[in-house]
Amino acid sequence: MDTKQWIVDKYEVGLEAYPQIKEAARILQANQVVAFPTETVYGLGANATSNEAVNKIFEAKGRPSDNPLIVHISRLEQLDMIAQDISDIARQLISKFWPGPLTLVLKKKDNSISEKVTAGLNTVAVRMPDHPIALALITAANLPLAAPSANLSGKPSPTLAKHVADDLAGKIAGIIDGGATGVGLESTVIDCSGEIPVILRPGGVTKEQLEEICGKVEIDQALVTEGQAPRAPGMKYTHYAPKAPLYIVNGSKIFIQSLVNEKQEQGIKVGVLTTTEREQEYAADEVIACGSRNDLESVANRLYEVLRLFDESKVDIIFSESFPNEGIGEAIMNRLHKAAGHQLINE
Ligand code: AMP
Ligand code: MG
Repeated sequence: MDTKQWIVDKYEVGLEAYPQIKEAARILQANQVVAFPTETVYGLGANATSNEAVNKIFEAKGRPSDNPLIVHISRLEQLDMIAQDISDIARQLISKFWPGPLTLVLKKKDNSISEKVTAGLNTVAVRMPDHPIALALITAANLPLAAPSANLSGKPSPTLAKHVADDLAGKIAGIIDGGATGVGLESTVIDCSGEIPVILRPGGVTKEQLEEICGKVEIDQALVTEGQAPRAPGMKYTHYAPKAPLYIVNGSKIFIQSLVNEKQEQGIKVGVLTTTEREQEYAADEVIACGSRNDLESVANRLYEVLRLFDESKVDIIFSESFPNEGIGEAIMNRLHKAAGHQLINE
C-alpha cells in the first residue's frame, strides 16, 4: 500500500479546511487508517463506528485483539453519543483536563461504536486530545476516531512522524507530519466507571493533579505488585522495548560505570541512558542523554526517541539510570519498567 505523507503546520489557523486535513478526513471516512500527531504521541486513527476500519488498526500494528482502543473526540456532544451514566467526578475531571492527556474509562452506550474498539468490554475509554491537528482532523472527519499509538505493537510509541514511517509505511493509508509531539508519553488512563476513580495507566496528567480535583484516587494495584492482572488489558503486554535488553539500575554513577566495564571486558557493546547532567561522565559504547534530571517533563518528552536511538546504535545491552517515582516520574518509571521487562539491578 502506498502511504501518503502530508506536512502540516500545527500553528496555522482554520486547519479543518486545509486540503491535507480534508484529504486525510475523506480517507478516514472511507474506513482507511491515518496516523496523526497528538500532544502525547502519534496516534493511528480509524472510524470508531466501523468494524472494518478498526480491524485495520489491529492488523497494521499487530496488536492483540483483546487490547481495547481509546476513542478520540473533538467536542463534548460526541461523548454522550458513546458513553452513559457519566458521574459528577468524571464531569469535573473532563472540565479540568480536556482537551488534554487524560483518558476516562466510562460505561459504554449500546450500539454506539464498534465492539472491536472495546474488545467486548462494557466500558469505553475516551479522550479529547489537546493538539490542533488532531482536533481539526476529528472535526473534519466528523467521526469519533479510535486511535492507539502509531507504532508496531511492542515497540516504543512514536513521538516523530519518522518513527511512524519506520514502523508502518506501506501498511497504512497516510501519515500527517505535524512535527514533534508534546508530552512524549501516553495519556493517563483513569477508570471512572466505579465510585472511586482508579488510575489504570500513569501518564501525562499526574496522580497529584487528579487528586486536587477529585480527592481520593486509587492506583491499579497490578501496576505496583507483580503477579496480578492489570485492569487495563494493554498493561499486561511488554511494551516500548528496544532491541537490546534494558536494565534499570538503582545506584550511583560509579556503580553503573562498574557494570559497563564488566560487560565491555567480555566484548559486549554497552549503552547508558542518562540525562544531560551526566552525559559526559560515562565511558561506554553509546551514552544518550534523555532530557534533564531537573526537569522530568523533558525526560518524558525524549524517552521513546532515545529508546529508538539505541536501536540504531547497535548496542548489545543498555543500562538506564532510574528516576524519582513521583509526578510525571511515575509514568516515566512505568514505561521504563515495561521496556525493561521489569529487569532491575540494585546497588
Ligand atoms: P494505547 O491505545 O496504546 O494508548 O493503549 C490504550 C490503553 O488503554 C491500553 O492499556 C488499554 O488496555 C487501555 N484501555 C482502553 N480501553 C479500556 C477499557 N474500556 N477499560 C480498561 N482499559 C482500557
Ligand atoms: Mg500504545
